[in-house]
Amino acid sequence: MPAAARRVKAADKRIINGQTDVNQLVPFKYKWAWEKYLASCSNHWMPQEINMSRDIATWKDPNGLSDDERRIVKRNLGFFVTADSLAANNIVLGSYRHITAPECRQFLLRQAFEEAIHTHAYQYIVESLGLDEGEIFNAYHEVASIRDKDEFLLPFIERIMDPAFHTGTPENDRTLLKSLIVFACLMEGLFFYVGFTQILALGRQNKMTGAAEQYQYILRDESMHCNFGIDLINQIKLENPHLWTAAFKSEIKALFEHAVELEYRYAEDTMPRGVLGLNASMFKGYLRYIANRRATQIGLDALYPNEDNPFPWMSEMIDLKKERNFFETRVIEYQSGGALSWD
Ligand code: FE
Repeated sequence: MPAAARRVKAADKRIINGQTDVNQLVPFKYKWAWEKYLASCSNHWMPQEINMSRDIATWKDPNGLSDDERRIVKRNLGFFVTADSLAANNIVLGSYRHITAPECRQFLLRQAFEEAIHTHAYQYIVESLGLDEGEIFNAYHEVASIRDKDEFLLPFIERIMDPAFHTGTPENDRTLLKSLIVFACLMEGLFFYVGFTQILALGRQNKMTGAAEQYQYILRDESMHCNFGIDLINQIKLENPHLWTAAFKSEIKALFEHAVELEYRYAEDTMPRGVLGLNASMFKGYLRYIANRRATQIGLDALYPNEDNPFPWMSEMIDLKKERNFFETRVIEYQSGGALSWD
């Protein structure tokens, strides 16, 4: 084949099972992926930029938080300290090699680094507060409501990271698509939301504002991951309509219902009583509302008709502008290469 004939044409690119050279980022076909990559880079932040001294004082003060509030913080970290490692493993060891669009791989590389930043943020909170690392990092083995969520997720990572697993048959393509749906819509899109809401509710009451600020940045990143995943899923559907059968849709619907149940049990376990103006049963509505939104975003019918959002303030949090933080008013700029110092 003459060299010029091997040049990549945008029209030939495919999200899965593509035959074009994955090392050639351009010509662009999937502009939405490149734009999300650029947007994620301009949202860059690092955990140690956030001052934790008020949180440390609150945590050490015997009257700083109630027992129920402390339970929320510890359960929260217990889930999240390992959750972002699972998300990173799923990308790096699982989905990345099956995605043949270089624009999407570029986003996934950025996303994998953000998962590392999130794990760093949770570790930084654990260390700042002087929590028992062994207790927090083992919660995903030892606390049933956390373990059940992770046990739900693990098979979806394991299947696609098996070296013998390859896409290219309808069955295997559906396995990959299912894993992408589970991670975007149910892991990052649902399993994170009880925890995010709880910590941001603490912040809104002017408690643990350093942790709340970290969570706010994480929430912004995660909502980008979720939106990217949904675009990816929809593009795969568009390119492979034969995968989206009635049987497959009902399998996905059952996974959504199971995930809502697991996250609701987590809400009950983290909030045995009402706390911070929240209680577990409010989350039943919230989780159904989110599940409906995720389902319709990938072209499924809403699972639970007529659910309203009981926490409209969460939407403001997701739309955080970098220069106007809800809890503080710091300006963090990463956008100017000219600001680097070389001495
Ligand atoms: Fe993520």
